Amino acid sequence: MEKAWKRNFIDISPYTAGEQPESEDIIKLNANESPYPPSPEVLKRIKSFDAGSLRLYPSMDALNLRKAAAQRLSQLNNVSLSERNIFIGNGSDDVLATAFRAFFNSDKPILFPSVTYSFYPVWCQLLKIPYKTTPMNEDFSINAADFYPENGGVVIANPNAPTAICQGLEFITDVLEHNSDCIVIVDEAYVDFGGCSAVSLTKSYKNLLVTQTFSKSRAMAGMRIGMAIGDSELTAILDAVKDSYNSYPLDSVAIETGIASINDDAYFKQTLERVISTRERTAKRLRELGFSLTESKTNFLFVQHESKSAKEIFEYLRSNGVYVRYWDKPIISNRLRITIGTDEQMDIMLNLLEKLLKA
Ligand SMILES: *Cc1c(COP(=O)(O)O)cnc(C)c1O
Repeated sequence: MEKAWKRNFIDISPYTAGEQPESEDIIKLNANESPYPPSPEVLKRIKSFDAGSLRLYPSMDALNLRKAAAQRLSQLNNVSLSERNIFIGNGSDDVLATAFRAFFNSDKPILFPSVTYSFYPVWCQLLKIPYKTTPMNEDFSINAADFYPENGGVVIANPNAPTAICQGLEFITDVLEHNSDCIVIVDEAYVDFGGCSAVSLTKSYKNLLVTQTFSKSRAMAGMRIGMAIGDSELTAILDAVKDSYNSYPLDSVAIETGIASINDDAYFKQTLERVISTRERTAKRLRELGFSLTESKTNFLFVQHESKSAKEIFEYLRSNGVYVRYWDKPIISNRLRITIGTDEQMDIMLNLLEKLLKA
């Protein structure tokens, strides 16, 4: 007999992240992590950290990190932001889940593209938010007009994942112009790798919330720092939701090392340039090997081979110690997402592919 209390369990199919192998020898190109360490300033800050201070709760609102972020984002985007325009959370997944909870309380469905970050439908399921997906074009681009119909909110990852494609700011403006009655979230997890940020638009569109993360371009996925940028009215509601389930999402070490990362702009720019140059070189060689690719503005490539199936390539690479991402899902089942690693790691992968495809 089934236990009666089991009927009260939540019915949820969780998000599945890229596999985390046990072995250190695996070349891990399946979770869009950085192949480089965070800024040396982060390590310095960890080494000098006073463990005694851990007996105290961390800052509830990560004020100093928000100040540092506001200052850097103001410079980068040529706008004037204050700490009141920044909300900080435990990775941008936490920030996004908080935003879904805070802003998507309509009976109308929220809209996002059918091929995008697969966490969005999971949060909708968890929080009982109705949603509809918009179609993809043949080349995986998306159309602003698909976001015109009445809705309860819009979420667009830009650059999008796993397609790697970045829509221009005129696209985001177009979506905003047709959605003045709901919140539009632009998820900029990959924007630092050559995308165009919508942060400056938050000044003129008070219903725009932009999210960013320290996990990819700042090589701090293990530290869990994410942020949202928007009008202070929006960040205040995010704070209210946060304070209704967890007042201290960021620990003291995360706050301090986050500041250290932001303050080392030279290292940040240098590692981004390295990833971008490896990306361009890898894309060129993949094309020579018969792959078609979308134009990537991210730290990964979205690829398809002219004759070998994605599944076969995925399994071959995996059996040779190189993990990339493959989904057995409609529309993208013959595509692979390959994270940009170091030049050496990409060469190992490319040489394996050459062996497989020329055999
Ligand atoms: C990686 C990623 C995130 C979240 O990353 P966090 O580590 O939680 O900050 C959010 N959106 C997209 C599209 C991502 O790829």
